[in-house]
Amino acid sequence: MVGTLQNTDAFIVGGGPAGLAAAIALRMRGFAVTLADPSQPPIDKTCGEGLMPDTLETLARLGVALPAEHSYPFRGIRFLGEGTSVDASFPHGTGLGIRRTHLHQALIDRAEQLGATLLWGTTVKALSVDRVLLGDHHSGQYDEHEVACRWIIGADGENSRVRRWAALDKPRRASKRYGFRRHYAVEPWTDCVEIYWGPDCQLYVTPIAAREMCVVLMSRDPHLRLEHVRDLFPELFEKLENAEPTTSERGAVSATRSLVDVSRGNVFLVGDASGSVDAITGEGLRLGFAQALALADALGQGNPQAYAAAHRRLLRRPAFMARLMLLLDYSPWLRQRSLHAFARDPKIFARQLAMHVGASTVADFVCGSMLPLGCRILTV
Ligand SMILES: Cc1cc2nc3c(=O)[nH]c(=O)nc-3n(C[C@H](O)[C@H](O)[C@H](O)COP(=O)(O)OP(=O)(O)OC[C@H]3O[C@@H](n4cnc5c(N)ncnc54)[C@H](O)[C@@H]3O)c2cc1C
Repeated sequence: MVGTLQNTDAFIVGGGPAGLAAAIALRMRGFAVTLADPSQPPIDKTCGEGLMPDTLETLARLGVALPAEHSYPFRGIRFLGEGTSVDASFPHGTGLGIRRTHLHQALIDRAEQLGATLLWGTTVKALSVDRVLLGDHHSGQYDEHEVACRWIIGADGENSRVRRWAALDKPRRASKRYGFRRHYAVEPWTDCVEIYWGPDCQLYVTPIAAREMCVVLMSRDPHLRLEHVRDLFPELFEKLENAEPTTSERGAVSATRSLVDVSRGNVFLVGDASGSVDAITGEGLRLGFAQALALADALGQGNPQAYAAAHRRLLRRPAFMARLMLLLDYSPWLRQRSLHAFARDPKIFARQLAMHVGASTVADFVCGSMLPLGCRILTV
């Protein structure tokens, strides 16, 4: 049976971080918002669970408050590998480690506070020009409803169906890596997010609570698991030796994708649906939040076309930094030389980090980091 719900200004397909951020940003502009997601909240997902300082600034613009008791601040990033290590603090502010479920709940609380209609356990089945078709299971019964709307926002993640339905699925560039995540009950031994560099893989270690750490293995091999890399990272696994795993290992694809277009007619894409950068950047969540704000600005100013340009601008720096960091994954020679160069001159690493979090100009980055790094690499 197909019934009809009330009309809405914006219908958001997907209630992950980007969809909820879009709901918040559009409600802050006064638009009526309805969102649907087939899952029940809070939604968990494989993630490094590290929020960089610029991600926290973007969340603050959305008015989202994160629970201090379920999170853990970190001051910077540490690289370890090739027999050396180097770290740097963020030039401004701190980052925050937080379980994905707590982040999701904080976004839900804010969206509900602003009056967004959130339909959980509800799947978007199809789109037409000005409406969406929803399917939901309640009390053992399956129902379908239509919702009429002015705008449809695709926030349905990496495998977006909205992207396909709107014929936006034309990538400029696309590649994949695989991430496997597990949590351990252990007091954080570090005040940084640690990235362990191994041959063809990395481990990201994030402190996320007073007694919990998140460990993610990233590689191009979908079959590689944490237990397979113990011997590559003895220093880390010694620290985890007596730590109880608090979750089972869970995987996800980390795609690098940029699209030719992120909107068509009244359909707009945000978050991973609209393209993504490799997880190594720790920038995926910020991008989704910033895109949500940019979309709400464009629609609020009656200038929807402005969204595409804002989206391109937002993706540029993280996409560039991801390419740069992944060079260390592709080339053992460059990895070895760069890690030793960083360790000998940590200021070069600090300037890379400043660029990463948007606190450096391109000129400072090139003169203060890339040129000295190039010289060091050739002379180490
Ligand atoms: C291994 C790994 C580590 C990462 N680490 C970090 C990190 O440390 N920091 C960081 O900032 N980013 C990180 N990221 C990136 C970050 O997880 C993503 O960028 C983020 O999850 C994207 O959010 P999203 O809302 O766009 O998509 P998702 O979180 O995938 O949400 C999409 C939602 O859409 C829903 N949906 C799908 N189809 C439909 C439909 N037909 N109808 C209704 N709803 C639908 C799904 O149920 C889902 O809830 C990492 C990613 C990976 C893979």
